[in-house]
This record gives sequence, C-alpha cells and structure tokens, in this order.
Amino acid sequence: MEDTSKARKNNGVPHVDSDKLGFLEDLVKEHGSPLFVIDHEKIRQNYREFKEHLPHVQAYYAVKANSNPEIVKTLFDMGCSFDVASMPEFMVVHEHIKYMPEKIRQDWIWDKIIYANTIKPVETLQALDQYKPLVTFDNIEELKKIKQYAPNAGLVLRIRVPNTGSMVELSSKFGANPGEAVDLIVEAFNMGLVVEGLSFHVGSQCTNFENYIQALQLSANIMREAETRAGKKINILDIGGGFPVRYTSDVKPFKSLARKLNAEIKRLYTKDTEILAEPGRFMVANACTLVAKVVGKAVRDGKPCYYINDGVYHTYSGQVFDHCNYPVKAFKDGDTKLSAVFGPTCDAFDTITLSAELPDLELGDLVYSENIGAYSHASSTYFNGFPPAKIVHINR
Ligand SMILES: *Cc1c(COP(=O)(O)O)cnc(C)c1O
Repeated sequence: MEDTSKARKNNGVPHVDSDKLGFLEDLVKEHGSPLFVIDHEKIRQNYREFKEHLPHVQAYYAVKANSNPEIVKTLFDMGCSFDVASMPEFMVVHEHIKYMPEKIRQDWIWDKIIYANTIKPVETLQALDQYKPLVTFDNIEELKKIKQYAPNAGLVLRIRVPNTGSMVELSSKFGANPGEAVDLIVEAFNMGLVVEGLSFHVGSQCTNFENYIQALQLSANIMREAETRAGKKINILDIGGGFPVRYTSDVKPFKSLARKLNAEIKRLYTKDTEILAEPGRFMVANACTLVAKVVGKAVRDGKPCYYINDGVYHTYSGQVFDHCNYPVKAFKDGDTKLSAVFGPTCDAFDTITLSAELPDLELGDLVYSENIGAYSHASSTYFNGFPPAKIVHINR
C-alpha cells in the first residue's frame, strides 16, 4: 500500500526539478500569488521548432491563445507573423509595425497580419480598410459587408473541414461547406473583390493528423476548380492552427506531423503557393506555469479539500472553455491522498479537480500547474472581485 501511494505522488507525474521549484518559490516571495510565470525562452524555442520542421510555412501566431503584449513582442522579434481576430488584437500587433515607413507598412501588412475572424463587425471593417488587410470570410453576407466597408481588403475563404478527435472543434461555427466554396470564390471575383487564398482549421489540439491530410486534399481540389472557373490564380493556402501540445506523452511529436504536412503540401501544391499557418497553443502552452497558494482547507466526506487562490474563473478557465485538464501539483513531497481542489470564488462550479493525488497541505503551501500558457490567462475574469493572476516574465 505504502509503495503505491508513493508512486502516485503528484498525480503520477514526476516533480519538475527542485531548482525550478525553488525558483518559482522565490518568484512568489517577490511577487505574491497567484502568479502566472511566462518563460520567453520557451516561446522562442517553440517558434524555432515550428520553423525547423515546417521551413516553408510562414507562422502567424494566433494571438487569442495568449494575447499578452510581451509574448507578441517576443514572437515579433523572432520574425513571427500574427493571426488576429478583433480590433484590439490587431492593434497589439500593429504597435510593432506602425513606426515603419509607409511603403514597407503597406506591403508588409499581409506578411505580418491576417485578420482571421470570418465574422467582422461593420465598425471593424471600416477601421481595417485603411490598412488594406488580409481577412477571412466564409459566407455571402460577409462578402457583401466587406465589399461595402473594406473594399481594399484581400480575401481568404475559410472552408469547413473534418475535425474528428480534436480537443476543441470549430467546424460547427466556421467554414463554408466545400461544396459551396467555388461558388463563393467566383461570386467574390464577380463583385470586384480579390480572393487571395483558402484557409481551414482542423480543430484545436488536433491529435488526429488525418484531419490535416483531408483538409489539404479538399483545399487543393477547391483551389484548382476555382482557378479554372474564375480564371484567376489563388496564391495562399492557410493551414490554420491545431498543432498539438504534448500535455501527455501519448501525443505524437510535432516532427511526425510536420513530416506528413510537408509531404502532402509538396504533392498537392505548386511551389509558388504561399503556405501560412496559425499556431496558437503550440507557441505558448508549455511556456507558462501557474503558482497558487492554499488559502483554505476542509475535509468533506472523508476527502481532503483544498481551496486555492486561483480557479476556473481565472487561470484554470481553460478547463471549461478549452476542455484542457491541468494537473495540480504540490511543491512538497509526502504520501498522497485523493483530494479535491477548489478555486476561490463562491461558486461550486469553481472546482479545479475532485481527484488530485496530493500530500497533506497546510494553509499557505504552494501548488502549481504546468503547460498552462494557452487559453488560460487570456480567458480569466474578475468574477467575485478576484482579479486575474499577476504575470511575471522570465527572459533568460
Ligand atoms: C484559435 C484559432 C487558431 C489557433 O488554434 P490553435 O489550435 O491554438 O493552434 C488559429 N486560427 C484560428 C482562425 C483560430 O480561431
């Protein structure tokens, strides 16, 4: 019995090295808790890994995964481009472009930003038009809006693709049916607009690589037929996001997905097709760690219950919106018990887990969750008067 419980320390996941824990502890001494620690070197590593394995794909970081301006700056400095989905996100990126000479700015904007929300308020289109932006669309109503309010935009048609097995599906809300795609492209050209490309999103945390393969094949067929029918060249293929993070070891390495993508792109597309991608999660998930503090403790039905100062209305919001599970781990060692961990708000929904394996914790003890950089802090609220976790940046 003893042995089993020892082996299951910290949810069966081995401790990160004690150096890192000591470092996190020091940070909390200095900055307080809850503390959201962003490791910028990890972000740079992720970008490098992406470029190493997909050298012919231009990466547009999906800002919604974590819109922290320092993250945008780090990626901008690496040469990354950006996928934005709202005017505030656009401005966070544009901040880095606006001081460039007018000529470069105009030529550069497509190279640096794609506005990849297929639904855009009229006011947004009006504000965007001066930048001659690259924007996505997936229906005729949006085309009419773009024609009226942002006629200088370049267009990318988003198509609906299979998303079997992805952690977060997007195809119920976005994407034209493949059967309607060519008609929409022809219609756009007839309206005097310019369709530059096609895009898709296979669903977030896509561990079923077959989704990408099918999407690449669908897109290639649509592109060929549209070029024939419209008599125009379509230059851009945007393969979206979905690149999975290794939250658990059963997720296959990025390298093996990249190998498949490279082969299929080479087989289906001409050399002059510009390939874009919109990685979100992949760039930031493993770069961030949350440290929280035990602020209350009880025993309910024989089970230890810990109340910590961060929860599902805050950094753990990804457990709700992103369907992602973040194991809560203790800093201290010791025999573990099946325990519940709750957030700080007065809502029973604010439950992080009912089944953490944790040693006996005291008030004031620290706990942490790793790989919590994507869809976490960005969807944190001020519910019940508790603000989002304080952010600290590590630039090694
Ligand atoms: C959310 C989103 C992304 C990022 O997806 P990940 O799975 O985090 O890589 C990319 N493109 C669009 C259009 C999105 O909505």
